[in-house]
Amino acid sequence: MTKVLVLNASYEPLNTCSWRRAIVLVLKGKAEQLECENKIIYSSHYLPTVIRLRNFVKIPYKEINLSRKNVLHRDNYTCQYCGVHKKDLTVDHIIPKSKGGKDTWDNVITACLKCNVSKGNKTPKEANMQLRISPRRPQSQIEFEISKFVMINKPVWSKYIVNIDFNA
Ligand SMILES: [Zn+2]
Repeated sequence: MTKVLVLNASYEPLNTCSWRRAIVLVLKGKAEQLECENKIIYSSHYLPTVIRLRNFVKIPYKEINLSRKNVLHRDNYTCQYCGVHKKDLTVDHIIPKSKGGKDTWDNVITACLKCNVSKGNKTPKEANMQLRISPRRPQSQIEFEISKFVMINKPVWSKYIVNIDFNA
């Protein structure tokens, strides 16, 4: 199913929709087509990949779940101690739970099994292990979700999504 990136009137990413929905929005004059594929899908319309709404839509802030999957995605599937990049990774509590560390975005980090085991029940300082980033909560739900799509199959979207380091 071809997904279309929907931008707000301000050019900020809003969500994604199906190409059918995108065409309807364009035909009704509610959106303009910014990017398309070289493939005609309906009368003389090309398959859209990015559209922009003509009217500004206000988006409420939505909390992002603190899940293993989301932590790994935030850290770009990279161990934040040794820098190894792979799929099979764990989540480490920077301040161990036994020492009062909490389940919060700034206390969890992606670690490979080797680093997680050698860090054990210590703080990074005690284990003499340096963190590569200061972990924080991802900025916006929309950008977070969309960045997953971009990495998989829509590099053309990336120029519309700022504040995400796709090469990290
Ligand atoms: Zn590691």
